[in-house]
Amino acid sequence: MEQFDTIIIGAGAAGLFCAKFAAAKGARVLVVDHAKRPAEKVRISGGGRCNFTNLDAGPDNYLSQNPHFAKSALARYTQWDFIELLAQHGITWHEKTLGQLFCDGKSAAIVEMLLHEARAADLRLSTTVDEVTHDGTEFRVSLSRREVATRHLVIASGGKSIPKMGATGLGYQIAAQFGVPLVETRPGLVPLTFGPQDLDWIVPLAGTALDARVGAGGTSFDEALLFTHRGLSGPAVLQASNYWREGEEIHVDLLPARSAFDALKAARSENGRRQMHTALSLLFPTKLAAALAQKWNLTGNLADQSDAKLHALADLIHSLPLKPTGSEGYRTAEVTLGGVNTDALSSKTMETNSVPGLYFIGEVVDVTGWLGGYNFQWAWASAAACGRAIADR
Ligand code: FAD
Repeated sequence: MEQFDTIIIGAGAAGLFCAKFAAAKGARVLVVDHAKRPAEKVRISGGGRCNFTNLDAGPDNYLSQNPHFAKSALARYTQWDFIELLAQHGITWHEKTLGQLFCDGKSAAIVEMLLHEARAADLRLSTTVDEVTHDGTEFRVSLSRREVATRHLVIASGGKSIPKMGATGLGYQIAAQFGVPLVETRPGLVPLTFGPQDLDWIVPLAGTALDARVGAGGTSFDEALLFTHRGLSGPAVLQASNYWREGEEIHVDLLPARSAFDALKAARSENGRRQMHTALSLLFPTKLAAALAQKWNLTGNLADQSDAKLHALADLIHSLPLKPTGSEGYRTAEVTLGGVNTDALSSKTMETNSVPGLYFIGEVVDVTGWLGGYNFQWAWASAAACGRAIADR
């Protein structure tokens, strides 16, 4: 039977990066993946330019049942460490917005870099993981019907998002098999869907975008909001989706940068004969102004509106309550919230407390970042923590 020091399941962002460290001191490392190509999510990420980290990445940008868990790994492998690695490979980048760093060229350069950094490891693609067992000291892994053995088993098989790209629940199954507790999973960074009543006014606006503040579960994000045929999307909505729970409302501030009351009052002084939908079109794209005027039954001229009425309208503009009926689910979600309960892991090494030699890294763990490079930074940081710990053993 083939023997390895470390077997890593998943040749994605976290798995390949872990291999770099785990194999650094000459140990025999195997990385396996059922996909034909490695790191497919890296390749397609960021519209093909990979938003590989964020200048502001820190523990506050992550959701987890234990918000302190990610601190140690994030502090020991930072965005600056990854930026330094890119420099060594001559990969140039730019900041797009909000600290989000993208490659100047294609994200394939990052995949190449990961493969180069992990070149000391053995990489087997198109390989299925049939079974994992543990005899107390060693793990036996049946790979495409051939057994291999290892002392260190790293699960880097990612979350459930985008099954079409090879996402499976394997990591959660292995956790369950070894009695490692899980936090319930749900789709994250995902468009929200609405019922017929809301779709009546949302659907005709499909394709319209505006800067908004979208809040859910006590947290809000100022970014673009996009109306779609099924509901709402755009970065502000994807971010808020992480904090939204089924049955709850979201609150949308359609005019976060200005006071709607002041703007409407000024418009009334300037020309009170303006129809209400025309007045709204001073603040919003014309289509949206017309839809809101109809939704809120706004008739008459600006001059007909008392200050109290303008205040009530401004309140709606700044805090429009909307109740999603659901999300677009794992089919389009960028990440999976929940996963391996961090209480079961060492924050220094990512090793499980109950099964020595078993590690979980990357998205399969209950640590989920905001949109904007934070999820890859978690993949790099958790992989580095794990790989270094293994190499030191
Ligand atoms: P993955 O990268 O998903 O890797 C898991 C690997 O395990 C895959 O190669 C998979 O084939 C393999 N695997 C799964 N099941 C099995 C099995 N049963 N047997 C064998 N192998 C298996 N994050 C950012 O920070 N910036 C971005 O720009 C960004 N863009 C994104 C765009 C899209 C469309 C999506 C879906 C996600 C994006 N993300 C982005 C999130 C980011 O891709 C993930 O958080 C990150 O890839 C997680 O790394 P991982 O290694 O844990 O999992």
